[in-house]
Amino acid sequence: MLVALEAALPEYVVEHIRINFLYVQLGEEADKPCWTKSSRGNFRVKSAWELLRQKADMNEDLNLLWIKGLPFKLSYLAWRIWNGKVPVASLMHSWNPTISQDCMCCSIPVEETIEHLFLKSEVAFRIWDHYSRVAGLLGPMINLKQTLRRWWSSNSSYRIQVVFQVVAIVILWCLWKRRNTILHGGSFSERKVIWEINDIILKAIKTRFKRDIGRNGRISLLIYRGIEITVALTV
Ligand SMILES: [Zn+2]
Repeated sequence: MLVALEAALPEYVVEHIRINFLYVQLGEEADKPCWTKSSRGNFRVKSAWELLRQKADMNEDLNLLWIKGLPFKLSYLAWRIWNGKVPVASLMHSWNPTISQDCMCCSIPVEETIEHLFLKSEVAFRIWDHYSRVAGLLGPMINLKQTLRRWWSSNSSYRIQVVFQVVAIVILWCLWKRRNTILHGGSFSERKVIWEINDIILKAIKTRFKRDIGRNGRISLLIYRGIEITVALTV
């Protein structure tokens, strides 16, 4: 009988029958379904969920998004960008062709993709380049994930590493804010982007390292490279 089943059913099903049903005898009782994923044969939603869910691999990069002292909405935006879940114009255009896919960040508009808006556009590139120089994180910016990984794994001391994590997330946030302001008819200069980035970084560092700051917080904070970055850029 099993030979005949092997021809018709997957190997694991035949194996299941061999183990569980080979010695089953015909009886008076009518057949009834049996949920094999629970020990008693009763259907359980939890076991069905475990069966259906596709466990994603843990992504160590994403753990670096959540930083104490940084507003959740900033980390969440960075998470959405990392996963390609931000409604940039090219994505909106794919849903509705009447929506323009042109960017509003460049003097000559091009297709607004995540890579363009957050890394390769004129303003984005200048901002990343500027902060990268001050932070000493030199090298080509091939794509957004590679650039973020450089900021998130700089092999610096613990505090500087946290500051670098913050800087990268805040840059993404301010570029998105600028984009949306311009989209709704406002203006948002490059200088203002830098001012906002510095302001948010300072607040985040003060919150994150509150315990380490003495009475004269401003002076004490200068030990952090992050402040060197902001001071250098506000001149
Ligand atoms: Zn652009």
